[in-house]
Amino acid sequence: MTFPISLEYFPPKTAEGAEKLRAVRQQLYALKPEFCSVTFGAGGSTQDGTLQTVTEILREGCPAAPHLSCIGQTRESIRERLAAYAAAGIRRIVALRGDLPSGYGLGGEFRYASELVAFIRSETGRQFHLEVAAYPEVHPQAKSPDSDIDAFIAKCEAGADAGITQYFFNADAYFRFVGELRRRNVNVPVVPGIMPITSSTQLMRFSDACGAEIPRWIRLRLQAFGDDTASIRAFGLDVVTDLCERLRAGGVPGIHFYTMNQSAATTDICRRLGL
Ligand code: FAD
Repeated sequence: MTFPISLEYFPPKTAEGAEKLRAVRQQLYALKPEFCSVTFGAGGSTQDGTLQTVTEILREGCPAAPHLSCIGQTRESIRERLAAYAAAGIRRIVALRGDLPSGYGLGGEFRYASELVAFIRSETGRQFHLEVAAYPEVHPQAKSPDSDIDAFIAKCEAGADAGITQYFFNADAYFRFVGELRRRNVNVPVVPGIMPITSSTQLMRFSDACGAEIPRWIRLRLQAFGDDTASIRAFGLDVVTDLCERLRAGGVPGIHFYTMNQSAATTDICRRLGL
């Protein structure tokens, strides 16, 4: 049986970016993804780009899932978006709270992703397959690790079908998170989100923002490479392939790649994994 992988893209901001992403997608279709997902900017800048990119992917013959964040949204605005998604033939959504850019306050009629999941189920029944976010290393705003697990379970109880994790480099955190869910009789699949390492500064910046820990030995190695991109990529390929191998050996239900709209790193990892 083939091992399921999914691929994540962000909506391009320019016509040139859109053209480049089309080429990237064509290269990555060789990996036969189960679906591709497209992020959604809670601040508003890329929201229409999400639907546009998802529509293109569907037209290319691949199942596609828009991310949908509820922060700053009203029930009516989400209802309209769900109708637009259904009309576009979308059957799968990654349902999130999201983060507003600083200065936007909170606003809106939803506080947590669990409320969005419950709302989608109450409005559209089982029409959409719903994925939600999971945080093996604990969401940065969580009151405690336990309350973060509670928050994930609340999303499952509201009707989520599966989880996709924030990226991590520590497989034990993932196995512990899933072990705790199983101990509490929550059996939804939790797919690890994997971030290929291609640039040290970009990785440090993202990880600080989203609370993903870069282990000290990885951080120091990356710093030591300076701007030697070839060495960063070679090292990153080794580290991330090892991580994926460990996860597969531990029985993960699939792998979700944060492609960063680039094909080379994800392709190299999958080739090494024999996928
Ligand atoms: P929630 O599950 O609502 O959790 C948010 C915080 O609230 C957590 O700290 C949780 O512990 C806490 N919490 C939840 N419920 C309760 C409760 N009842 N009481 C008290 N505390 C509670 N962001 C984007 O803007 N666009 C994207 O496209 C996007 N895609 C993502 C895809 C994946 C796979 C992942 C892992 C993250 C993605 N993000 C995206 C980032 C995400 O939006 C942020 O991490 C955001 O801060 C939290 O969203 P959430 O859906 O996990 O929120």
